[in-house]
Amino acid sequence: MNKGKKLGEFKTTSYCRFCKSKNIHKFIVLGNQPLAGGFLKKGDFKNEKFYPLGLYFCRNCYLIQTTVVVNKDKLFKSYFYKTSAIKTLLSHFKKNATLLSKFFKKPQENFVLEIGCNDGNFLNEMSKRKFKVLGIDPAENIIKPLIAKKLPIINNYFSKKEAKEILKINGKAGLIVSTNTLAHIENMHDVFNGINLLLDDEGFLYFENHYLGNLLKETQYDMIYHEHLYYYSLLSLSNFLKKHSLEIFNIRKIPIHGGSIGLFVQKKKGPFKISKRVKDTIAWEKRHKLDSLKTFEMFSKQVEKKKKELLDLLSSLRKKNKTIVGYGASGRGTVISNYAGLDNKLLDYVVDDSKIKQGFYTPGTHLKIVPSTLNNKNRPDYTLLFAWSFYKEIKNRNKKYKKNGGKFITPLPKVRII
Ligand SMILES: [Zn+2]
Repeated sequence: MNKGKKLGEFKTTSYCRFCKSKNIHKFIVLGNQPLAGGFLKKGDFKNEKFYPLGLYFCRNCYLIQTTVVVNKDKLFKSYFYKTSAIKTLLSHFKKNATLLSKFFKKPQENFVLEIGCNDGNFLNEMSKRKFKVLGIDPAENIIKPLIAKKLPIINNYFSKKEAKEILKINGKAGLIVSTNTLAHIENMHDVFNGINLLLDDEGFLYFENHYLGNLLKETQYDMIYHEHLYYYSLLSLSNFLKKHSLEIFNIRKIPIHGGSIGLFVQKKKGPFKISKRVKDTIAWEKRHKLDSLKTFEMFSKQVEKKKKELLDLLSSLRKKNKTIVGYGASGRGTVISNYAGLDNKLLDYVVDDSKIKQGFYTPGTHLKIVPSTLNNKNRPDYTLLFAWSFYKEIKNRNKKYKKNGGKFITPLPKVRII
């Protein structure tokens, strides 16, 4: 797999970025991988770069992290992931806005900052509910339409320096929100210094991220990619937040992206009582030994097993001359494809409903991304769901495909035909 692969530029650390301990241990290696969101034009194949991918466990604070950090402009300046392209996410943001606005009696007196606002769905919802809003996001291509819509937006990364500027103009924030971005930022201490500076003493931070508990339970190795520098448990996060005089006062489990967690964080001695749910989840994590290297070494063995099962299934279908396509040109798809080696020998092409990806090729495996062919006459026999966590939505959209005899394959949490 690594033949002819050009390594890109990256930096590594030899310690835990959260607690500075050198007591970190590698437990999984996924080889040299392209950037998960690095979709290509046909002429770009020979310039494609690869980067080592693996995870480390910190024995001191229990953080899971990648040590390789790719230049962040390569990752985020031009971003292919548009949340408005996914229906499930749109309704999710609306629900979040309803839930979070309930904390505030006078919305118009509160300013809401969203870190990594993507194409602005959540901020729009909050703006409708009379909050003053501000978004910050580094992806130029995604936020352009927001500027046109006159949503207040800063095109940059969030940092303590930016926080100082925001504070001068907007004052303190009653609510700071971040959805699936706080695992992507190398210098989390700087980000949290900024959050601390901006957050009102009576306010709170709400952020969502993929949850390590789900990653383990469902062997979700497809969540491991260069953009995701950290994989959070409550155990590791609590240790980190303590350093910033912050505490988690509530959590919610969210059945999105294969299992996320929403965290409510306040300043120490803030206005909210700590929910029993927080203590219960920490107890669950201790019971399941999320503080032990051995747990993650076992995870690594499971990953190898799932990969083998998937390869065996696809190879046997190919031997019967079946057509197989991938569904969802996602970061998850990139990881599975490159780790398992799903190239044109096993898959014909990849379909994706998002127009901005169509016409591009998948990173590393160079399969063409096309609009869905599932309802065409020459529909594929099998469709491998890279976007398996959106299975319900995909199934509802493709009832005809199943009726006509088409079959779906999930790579995770179980390799199976459905
Ligand atoms: Zn650590």
